[in-house]
Amino acid sequence: MDNKVPCGICSEPISASCRRYGGRACNSCAAFFIRVIRTQQSFSCIGINNECLKTPTKLGKGCKRCRFDKCIEIGMSTNGMIPPIQKAPEPKPEKNTIFASILNSILNASVTSPNLLISYLSEHNGQLFSDGFKTLEGVALIPMSDKITLLSYVLKKFPITQNEFPAFIQLSLCKLKLQHLQIEEQLKIQAVQNAALLKISNFHPIGSRLIELSNISQHFLNVFYIF
Ligand SMILES: [Zn+2]
Ligand SMILES: [Zn+2]
Repeated sequence: MDNKVPCGICSEPISASCRRYGGRACNSCAAFFIRVIRTQQSFSCIGINNECLKTPTKLGKGCKRCRFDKCIEIGMSTNGMIPPIQKAPEPKPEKNTIFASILNSILNASVTSPNLLISYLSEHNGQLFSDGFKTLEGVALIPMSDKITLLSYVLKKFPITQNEFPAFIQLSLCKLKLQHLQIEEQLKIQAVQNAALLKISNFHPIGSRLIELSNISQHFLNVFYIF
């Protein structure tokens, strides 16, 4: 049941049940109506006597003055309520960008709080994970820094899956070098990292991909260190 009737302004066929702002108008005329109200523009008739749209025609809608008058004439109104401008939704970040941002924040947390890194690797304290993911809830708001752009580029070139990501995080944490620390502390952390690495490789959760993931994490860390 899709009977067509002409738009009350431009005569374009529209569905018989279609009402826009109280008038029988097509989308284009409805959008025009709201645009004029929003911008509070006024126009003069480009024809004679404001009669361009005495009868609805496609051609007549070229006169903005008559087109708007016709909108009012057929009963269009906003009742004082101007509908809000519909913003285009923010583009969702790509998966590799999300991964890059999560990992970057986890690595940063590890660099600034080595104790967090040790307790994560030796006791499986998930704190680092959850902090990283919490930061990412508003990932669309995180400005794309050059660093994240480069890090996500690495992950685009060497894609990893969602399932592999936790292992990838672990591998990266096991290889992270904290060169700003005293040498004794660095050695202590390296021992914890090596033990954790051994555990991962014995466990073989992802089989032969482990070596590839390990290589990718090294690429990732190389970029991470530059900044
Ligand atoms: Zn129309
Ligand atoms: Zn006119």
